[in-house]
Amino acid sequence: MSKPIVLHIDHVSKTFGGLDALSNVHLDIREGETHAIIGPNGAGKSTLLNVCVGGLEPTKGKVLLAGTELTGRRPFEINQLGVARVFQTPEIFADLTVVENVMMAMLSHRDGAFRLRLLSRFGDRSETGLRATKALTDLGLGGHLNHLAGALSRGDKRRLELVMSVVQQPKLLLLDEPTAGMARADTNATIDILRKFKESGMTIVIIEHDMHVVFSLADRITVLAGGRVIAQGLPDEIKGNPKVVEAYLGE
Ligand code: ADP
Ligand code: MG
Repeated sequence: MSKPIVLHIDHVSKTFGGLDALSNVHLDIREGETHAIIGPNGAGKSTLLNVCVGGLEPTKGKVLLAGTELTGRRPFEINQLGVARVFQTPEIFADLTVVENVMMAMLSHRDGAFRLRLLSRFGDRSETGLRATKALTDLGLGGHLNHLAGALSRGDKRRLELVMSVVQQPKLLLLDEPTAGMARADTNATIDILRKFKESGMTIVIIEHDMHVVFSLADRITVLAGGRVIAQGLPDEIKGNPKVVEAYLGE
């Protein structure tokens, strides 16, 4: 029996002026799968993710999370429903420590000012603080707990963001090129972290350019080109697909 559908992208199109960034994209993501979305620059990958998190309204079609319609909702509300995202620019609180950043993420159902008051009251010895410390230690950031997040290396900032997303225990994690601009060692550390998420049963959608990352993690792959799905299948089916090879020519 196949697993339940977590994310249902139902015939989504998005036009910008006269440009069809997405044309009739239909895609189901099942519980526990790691699904990679690949395709040349300008294929519509980021647009598709933005439509899922409420950053953009589709021109046609809709997106559902476990049967609940996401289309038309605000990004904050979609996050509350269980969609966590890690985008190309790290979204961290530079003036808070690493452990405080993770505590803020754990308290994400509260508004910002209230969370800051809670933080000053809780401290990192509270239960929330200890859980944050454990998550950071498990994922290799234990040496930076009390450093200011703004002072971390680029790779560690991305890693911190991953920890912040996972402590929210999302139903779905969306990643837009999480290893972009990373050196090989940081990329491999990121693969290790995502593998742990995957082993814990998390459902993951990852947009990724680096084929080493894609083939290390993906259970299934969707290939976008010119806003359309041109291929979909298991990694081995995608690897040798002539349409995919053709789409990447001239990159
Ligand atoms: P990818 O992430 O696959 O590189 P994008 O989703 O960023 O591609 O972009 C798909 C197409 O839509 C591109 O041609 C891009 O220039 C265009 N596009 C993306 N966002 C906008 C926008 N906000 N306004 C106008 N055009 C956009
Ligand atoms: Mg993009």
